[in-house]
Amino acid sequence: MNPWLWGGAAAAAYWGVPYALWQWWGIDVVQRGLGSSRPELGLTFDDGPDPATTPRVLDALAEAGVRATFFVLGERAEAHPELIGRLRDEGHELALHGWRHRHGWLRFPWEAAADVRRGAATLERLTGERPRFFRPPHGAYTWAQQAAISRLGLTPVHWTIEAHDWHPRYGPREVIARVVAGELPGGGRLEGAAPGDIVVMHDAGPGGETAAAALPGLLAELQERGFNPKPVGELRGLRRGRWRDLPKRAWVATVDRFFDRVYHVEELNYAAHSVFRVARAEYPGPAVTLPDGRRLEPGAPAAELHLHSERMARAGEAGSLTAFRFFKKSMPDLARALRERPHLADVQVFWGVSLFQEILEPVGFQVVELPPLRRRFLGSYMHFLHRLYGGTPLKRVWPRLVLIDRETLLERYG
Ligand SMILES: [Zn+2]
Repeated sequence: MNPWLWGGAAAAAYWGVPYALWQWWGIDVVQRGLGSSRPELGLTFDDGPDPATTPRVLDALAEAGVRATFFVLGERAEAHPELIGRLRDEGHELALHGWRHRHGWLRFPWEAAADVRRGAATLERLTGERPRFFRPPHGAYTWAQQAAISRLGLTPVHWTIEAHDWHPRYGPREVIARVVAGELPGGGRLEGAAPGDIVVMHDAGPGGETAAAALPGLLAELQERGFNPKPVGELRGLRRGRWRDLPKRAWVATVDRFFDRVYHVEELNYAAHSVFRVARAEYPGPAVTLPDGRRLEPGAPAAELHLHSERMARAGEAGSLTAFRFFKKSMPDLARALRERPHLADVQVFWGVSLFQEILEPVGFQVVELPPLRRRFLGSYMHFLHRLYGGTPLKRVWPRLVLIDRETLLERYG
């Protein structure tokens, strides 16, 4: 066989498989916590400690009374033990980023393994305890590195939100927009922070300056939106990536995004509890009598509610009471959107089709049966989605039309 082919196959096995398995799909790598009732967010800083920027990052965190996880480099920790001491004194979580900041792919296997061992030994010597978490430089894994961290009992931690503080075009404003609302410079959007997410920032290098400058504003913004930032090790229900999460991720990245575009789905806000998104769509019928006795006819100016499926699934993991609280807290946001967004000014009713009538009815929604054929068709589809997002199967629940008219909404929540 051609030696080039052999070489190519070996390279794919050594670099490609770890890339797909750990870096891209995140199998067995800690990705996030649970969307608990007091919405938590894992806050992490990589690449330090750095005498120029780490103290500024620490000052900003102390000012806000927030603790975080620092993935430090052994080499820098050894050069600045006083900063490691300060990190620990101020209650932050110390984790390992390796001995030296080199991409795992650019090293011999034995080097990559030795780097992890040396870094872990250094932290252990400086602090008296072995770190619990490891994040490789650039989030890039190799087989050798993975073998070394599992032998040392370290847990790999990835992230769900990159603050991009290292980006030359990013200042504090862009960092805040990206973490909170998922906005990208030059257009485009990602999901903003949701409960349980893990955010990566930097306390050294070019990112350190921007991170230190962005932190006061970012932390204030997160707290105002109901988030509770904390070290990764304190997140409830730490979740490692699983094979069965992959269909969901693929669905979110393709079908969900496609529908959001086609239907012009917009966010209500970026609060931690936010579960609704909306899109203009006429009321599809059937005709119903509203609480004040008026008739609502098909074709009335309306907006359709789209649930944040991912957030709902996480809230559901945390318990149905959490899901209920998120809905209840989202209702005033719906009323506010009606009053404040000009293109929703004439909306008579918010409607949607949902399996969650039991949660929606107590917060003020009217529940209407769908025609049998539509119910059946939508039922299979919605149960499929519910399971895809990791919900426990709902037995004997079929989709119903839920709606809340303008007057009821404003009266109860305006
Ligand atoms: Zn790094």
